[in-house]
Amino acid sequence: MNGLLEAFLSLLYPENVACCICGEEACVNEERLCASCAAGIRRCTLPPALRFADGFAAGLIYSEETAIAVHRLKYGNARYLAPFFISFLELPADWTFEAIIPVPLHKRRLRRRGYNQSALLAEALSERIGVPVREELIRRTRNTKTQTSLNARRRARNLRGAFAASPEAKGMRLLLIDDVRTTGATLSECARALREAGAAAVYACAACERERSD
Ligand SMILES: [Zn+2]
Repeated sequence: MNGLLEAFLSLLYPENVACCICGEEACVNEERLCASCAAGIRRCTLPPALRFADGFAAGLIYSEETAIAVHRLKYGNARYLAPFFISFLELPADWTFEAIIPVPLHKRRLRRRGYNQSALLAEALSERIGVPVREELIRRTRNTKTQTSLNARRRARNLRGAFAASPEAKGMRLLLIDDVRTTGATLSECARALREAGAAAVYACAACERERSD
């Protein structure tokens, strides 16, 4: 492509010529990744089961490259990364659900951050598969401390009772979505709350899955 046309197109579609992850203007593949970022992307093929959920699926392995993209989706308002992540997410064909529920942020954290990255993922998935998002079916009642320094058991304890599901979830078949599954404690606790409210099925998915050493 000649330079002038390229410059014109980059004005029209800046994200189409820049790599989705590093943002460098580069020769990108059909997934809109430069060669070096594409090399750092791996699909998650056999994610482990998730407690209280009827099934779990994840798009990509959480790597150095995907961590950068998750960080930009979460804090950098890089909304175009939501459909990017969703394009790697494959849900089993036998899952049937009538609503998508993003893992909620506590309202105080939501106010500070301005948006919920999991809600962006839910919207992108909804657009792809035509199932509505029902954010109001679960809310975070407790603003839990950050989980990063906690081990699996402590994470689970830290989150106990942190979510409240709406009685409207009763009898519904639902799909939860989060950005990253680390130990699974957050998604698991959401699934438990929805089940206790009488949901008929609760599936869960994440854009990225942290690889386990065990
Ligand atoms: Zn790149």
